[in-house]
Amino acid sequence: MGDAWRSIVDVASARVAQPLLAALQVPAEAISAHELAESLVIALLQVALIAFVFRPLESWRPAERWTDRRLTRVDRNYTLLVVLGVLPLTLFLAMTPLRGVFTGPKTGEGLLHSIPYLAQHPYLLFGVYYLVFDFVYYWMHRAQHAIPWWWALHSLHHSQRQVGCWTNHRDSLLDGVLESAILASVGIVLGVEPAEFALLMLAGELVQDFSHVNARIGFGPVFDKVIVDPVFHRLHHMRADAARPGLHNCNFSQAFPIWDIVFRTGLYGEAARPTGVSDPMVDADNAQGLVGQQLAALRRFWGAVRSRSGWQPGDVSFGPGYAPVPDRGCRDIPTRRDGAGL
Ligand SMILES: [Zn+2]
Ligand SMILES: [Zn+2]
Repeated sequence: MGDAWRSIVDVASARVAQPLLAALQVPAEAISAHELAESLVIALLQVALIAFVFRPLESWRPAERWTDRRLTRVDRNYTLLVVLGVLPLTLFLAMTPLRGVFTGPKTGEGLLHSIPYLAQHPYLLFGVYYLVFDFVYYWMHRAQHAIPWWWALHSLHHSQRQVGCWTNHRDSLLDGVLESAILASVGIVLGVEPAEFALLMLAGELVQDFSHVNARIGFGPVFDKVIVDPVFHRLHHMRADAARPGLHNCNFSQAFPIWDIVFRTGLYGEAARPTGVSDPMVDADNAQGLVGQQLAALRRFWGAVRSRSGWQPGDVSFGPGYAPVPDRGCRDIPTRRDGAGL
């Protein structure tokens, strides 16, 4: 297995990465062709997994029946763009010289390495890293919904009315840069090695690719509290229910629902509701292609970040000039879910 992997990466390095780096005139010491090739092969495997495993699940047990898949095409283009761009890794490498500004660690000498037991058990250390990243992701995701200027960007991810296997990567590129910068900073403080960081990000992405699948797949009343499944994340994408304002502010966790359970934002036992965003300004993303959507999200962001209401936490819609207008009745994130099983 190891040999097969090495030979695939060697071929990709010789046939794709080296000619690409040469054509771009990238100095040999800046990035290794072998590492680039490895990232590209992993990215292609990720796309193949979505296309040949997750996509058929949608035909097998659809959560929602769509008569026309056209709306999902733009999400597939996002996936190809972002997955192949390997954005987080690039940023991490770019920020590596900043190492030491935060805590002074070199690779392998971060915060958690000072705990001798963890330093001696690399797999356990990897698991702890994953847990820490998942915790950071949970709070970052809460902020993406609660802070109107950040919602202006993140709402592009939620504007999809047909959430499916490609939707994970539908996002504002600026939002992607912010997310990556935050996660990369955490990685630097912890002293995560670049290869480990790539693996951690990949593990997170794979869970998220799966949790967006348009399929009625749940892990059952015990394991759905352990790992996020498609039923859980579909509820996060529900359109707001006027009769139950705030219900949609739920299920923010990326991989481990424990954070939603502990911080009382977990919702279980609710029937799937239509996905998307009721705000017409955000819903209009569905009529746009990739570039149009990026521009629309930037306009919302620019309208929000310059206004006072853009900094006041709570649910908003976007009014004239893209200024955020608080949604009445949806200002507060409820502290107690009415879902069963908690
Ligand atoms: Zn969200
Ligand atoms: Zn999502």
